[in-house]
Amino acid sequence: AKYVYTWGAGKADGNGSMKALLGGKGANLAEMTRIGLPVPPGFTITTEVCTYYYANKRTYPAALQAQMEAGVANMEKIMGTKFGATNGMPLLVAVRSGARDSMPGMMDTILNLGLNDQTVISLENSTNNPRFAWDCYRRFIQMYGDVVLGVQKREGEDHEPFETVIEGFKHEKYHGDIEDSKLTADDQKELVKRFKALVLERTGKQFPNNPWDQLRGAAGAVFGSWMNDRAKVYRAKYNIPSEWGTAVNVQAMVFGNTGETSGSGVAFTRNPANGVNEFYGEFLINAQGEDVVAGVRTPEPVLELKKQMPKSYAELLKVRATLEKHFKDVQDIEFTIQEGKLFMLQTRNGKRTAAAALKFSIDMVKEKLIDWKTAITRNPADQLEQLLAPIFDLAEVKKASVIATGLPAGPGAATGKIYFNAERSVQAAEKGEKVLLVRVETSPEDLRGMIAAEGILTARGGVSSHAALVARQMGKVCVCGAAALQIDYDKKTVTVGGTTYHEGDFLSIDGTSGTVYAGQIKTAPSEIIAGLVNNDAAAKATEKFKSFTQLMKWCAQATKLSVRTNADTPEQTRIAVAFGAVGIGLTRTEHMFFEGDRIDAMREMILADSLAGREAALAKLLPYQRDDFYGIFKALKGFPATIRFLDPPLHEFLPHTKEQQMDLARKLSIPVEKIMHRVHELHEFNPMLGFRGCRLGIKYPEITAMQARAVIEAAVKAKKDGIKSKPEIMIPLVGFKKELDLQVAIVHEVAAKVFAEQKTKVEYSVGTMIEVPRGALTADEIAQTAEFFSFGTNDLTQTCLGMSRDDSGSFLAPYQEAEVFKKNPFASVDQTGVGQLMKIAIEKGSKTRPGIKLGICGEHGGDPDSVKFCHKIGLTYVSCSPYRVPVARLAAAQAAI
Ligand code: ADP
Ligand code: MG
Ligand code: MG
Repeated sequence: AKYVYTWGAGKADGNGSMKALLGGKGANLAEMTRIGLPVPPGFTITTEVCTYYYANKRTYPAALQAQMEAGVANMEKIMGTKFGATNGMPLLVAVRSGARDSMPGMMDTILNLGLNDQTVISLENSTNNPRFAWDCYRRFIQMYGDVVLGVQKREGEDHEPFETVIEGFKHEKYHGDIEDSKLTADDQKELVKRFKALVLERTGKQFPNNPWDQLRGAAGAVFGSWMNDRAKVYRAKYNIPSEWGTAVNVQAMVFGNTGETSGSGVAFTRNPANGVNEFYGEFLINAQGEDVVAGVRTPEPVLELKKQMPKSYAELLKVRATLEKHFKDVQDIEFTIQEGKLFMLQTRNGKRTAAAALKFSIDMVKEKLIDWKTAITRNPADQLEQLLAPIFDLAEVKKASVIATGLPAGPGAATGKIYFNAERSVQAAEKGEKVLLVRVETSPEDLRGMIAAEGILTARGGVSSHAALVARQMGKVCVCGAAALQIDYDKKTVTVGGTTYHEGDFLSIDGTSGTVYAGQIKTAPSEIIAGLVNNDAAAKATEKFKSFTQLMKWCAQATKLSVRTNADTPEQTRIAVAFGAVGIGLTRTEHMFFEGDRIDAMREMILADSLAGREAALAKLLPYQRDDFYGIFKALKGFPATIRFLDPPLHEFLPHTKEQQMDLARKLSIPVEKIMHRVHELHEFNPMLGFRGCRLGIKYPEITAMQARAVIEAAVKAKKDGIKSKPEIMIPLVGFKKELDLQVAIVHEVAAKVFAEQKTKVEYSVGTMIEVPRGALTADEIAQTAEFFSFGTNDLTQTCLGMSRDDSGSFLAPYQEAEVFKKNPFASVDQTGVGQLMKIAIEKGSKTRPGIKLGICGEHGGDPDSVKFCHKIGLTYVSCSPYRVPVARLAAAQAAI
C-alpha cells in the first residue's frame, strides 16, 4: 500500500482534493506544488498510517520505512543536500502535523530536524554562518525536547524549563538585557550544551543523535498527539470524529533566520475580520516561523515588506493573486523568505467572521471568481446570526474589564442596569432604562422581564435552558451558566471576583463570546435589523445591508424547502416576515396566557371545580386569544399559520411559592388551601410524560372548544376586514388516531357553529404534531384524520431517546466527549434515531395522504445541519424562531445546491 505521498519541483503524488488522506496541510502543499508555486519538497505520511498505528498497538506498517527513505531521497535530490550529512550541506526537515483542519491540541511543529553535534558543523561550514547554524540547533533541541521528549513545565514551575535556562544564561552574561536574535554563535553553543544537560536530567536519556531516530520519534509524537486530552476535548467540542486521524508532513527546511535578508510571515489574501480586499498579515525579519505567532518580538504588518524587500513582496503579491484565482477563495498563508527568495509553506481557506464571509462572497461574484450558488455556500449558516446582533463599540470594549464568562447563548452585545427579577426589570424598562436581567436561571414567569431586558445573564443553565431558548426565539443577547456569579436575590446583589454589584449598577455582556464585563459599554444595532425590521433608510444604504439582501435573494432562487417561523405575537410575526418567513410553523398558544391579567383567568380555569366554572374562566380568555390570532393573521399577510392548542402541564400556570399562592387566593377570593391542594393534585413525577398535550383537551374538551372558537372567529373577523388567513390547527402529543379524532370533532363542531352564527365561512385545516414514537409508527392511521404533520422534534427527541431535555445537562458533556453522540441531540436532530422515526412517519403518512404537508417546528428548525436533513427527507418547510429565519433560509438554500 502507498503510505507516503511526495511533492517537490513542480510534481506531486497528491493534490488539494485529498484532504481526508493527506490532511489539509499536506493536500494543499501538493496542490501549491502542482500549480508551480515555490514550495520546499517533502512528503506526507497518510492518515491511514495513523489509523493503522492505533489499530495495531502503536506500531507502523512494515512497508513504511522504505517509503519514507524514498521520500527523503527525493528531497535530497531536489535540494542537493543529504539527510545526516557530516560533509557538505545537511538536509534538515520540518515535521508538521496534518489533521484535515488545523487543530489546537495537536503536536507543535518541529523545525530543523536532522541536526546533531556533527551535522551542525557541516551546516556551519557550508553556510559560513555559525550564528545561524547554532541558532537552528538550539531551536531544534528546544522544540524536540518539549514536544517529543516532554521536557515541559512541571507543577510549581512558572516558566518553561528551556526558557528558564535561556533567561538564566542571559542574566549571567548580559544581565538579562538582550534580544534572542542578538545572541552570538558561542552563546547558542553554550545553550545547546545546557539544553542537552537539561534533557538528560529530565528524561534520564541522552538527546537522540541519529537523524532517523529523530524523525521516527517526531512522527510518533504527531500520531500520539491525536489521542491526547487536549485534542480529544477539541474534537468533542467541534464534532470531529476520532476516526479521521492525522497525517504527518515531513518537509525540507528553508530558513528565515539566516540574517537581515530573510524572514517569516503569515497573511490572509483579504482581511478576514471585515472582508476588505487588502493584503493582511505580518512578518518578522531574521526569524523562523514560530517566532511570528509566539509573540517574543512584535511582528510588522506585511505591507512593510514592500519597503524592506520589494522584490520578495512583489513575488508574494503575485502568489496572492495566483492562490485566489486557483482556490477561488480567501487564503490564509504561511511563507518564509530565505536570502531574498520566497517559499510557500502553507495555504488554506481562511477562517473569517460572518461579516467578512458575506463581503468576500458578494465581492467574488462581482469579480467573476465564483458564481452566485457558490457564494451561498461561502456563508456559514451557523455564523449568520452574528450579522444581526447589536455590536459593542470596538474601542470601548477594549477598555472594559472582564469579570466572568459563561455560555454564549444569544449572540450580540448588551449593556444595561442589572435587575434581579422580571417585575423590576419591566418597571425599569418602562422608565426608559436599559436593563440586564440577571437570574440564577429563568422560568416562564420571567418572560416579561426577558422581553423588557436588553440582555439576559444567568448563573446556571446550558444551551437548551429556558433562558437560552427564549433568547434565541426573541433574538435576545444572552450569556447563561456564568458559574462565577454569586447571586443574592434578597440583598439584590451579584458578587463576582470579590466585587459586589447592586441592583441598578451597570454590567455588559457579549453573547457571541460569552463574556461578562463590568460597567457600561456603548452598542449599536445591526444595520440589517435596522433596515429590514425598522425600515431605517440609512441602514438600507449600507454595504452590509445590501450584501445581506442580495444573499437572501440568491437563497430564494436556490431553495426548495421553505422557511416558516415559531411566533406567538404579531410583533414576532412581523419580524419573521421581514426576514422572509412564509408563514408560522408554530404558535404556542400557552405563551399568550402568561401576559398581564390573562394568567389570572387561566388560573381561575385550572382551579374551577365544575364545567361551568371552567367555561366561565375560559370565556374571559376567549377575547384575548381571538385578538392575538387576529393580530397574527394580519401580520402574516395571507401566509399560513399553524396554531398549536394548549400543550404544557397545567401546574406550570399555578404559583408555587406560599407568598404567590396567598396573593392569588386574595385576588380570586378563594381559600389558599384550595390552591395548595390543587397544586399538590397536579404534581407529577414525570411531567414531560404526564398530563399534557391533547390529553388536556380530551379530559377538558371545553379548552379545545374555546381555542377553536378563538381561531375561527379571528379568521372570520379577518375575512370581514379584507385580510386573508390560513389557519392550520395543530393538536399536540398525538400517539393514537383516536386522540386526534376526538379533538378534530370538537374543532369541526365549533367551526360549524361559528360559521352559522357569522353567516360566513373560512378555510382551515386540522393536523397534528408527530412527537411521540407511537405517532410516528402509526402515521398511516393518523394521516386518515390529520391534514398535515409537523414534527415536534423537541419532544420526539425526548421520547425517542428516553432523555429529558431539562435533566440531560448532567451527563451531556461526558456523553459528547465519549462520542456516544456526536452532537447535542437537542440542538441538532439525531438523524439515525429520531430521523428514522421521521422517515417512517413521512413514508406511512404519504401513503395514506399523498402529498401531505410536512413541517418541523422543534428548536432543530433553526439548526443548519438539521435543516439540511429536513431538505433531504423531503419536508415542505422548517420553522424556527424569528431571528433564526435567515439562518434557516441560508441552510435550506445550501441544502438545495
Ligand atoms: P501550524 O499548523 O501550527 O501552523 P505548521 O506546520 O504550519 O504548524 O508550522 C508552523 C510554522 O513553522 C510555519 O508557519 C513555518 O513558519 C514554520 N515551518 C514549517 N515548515 C517549515 C519549513 N519546511 N521550513 C521553514 N519553516 C517551516
Ligand atoms: Mg501553519
Ligand atoms: Mg411538544
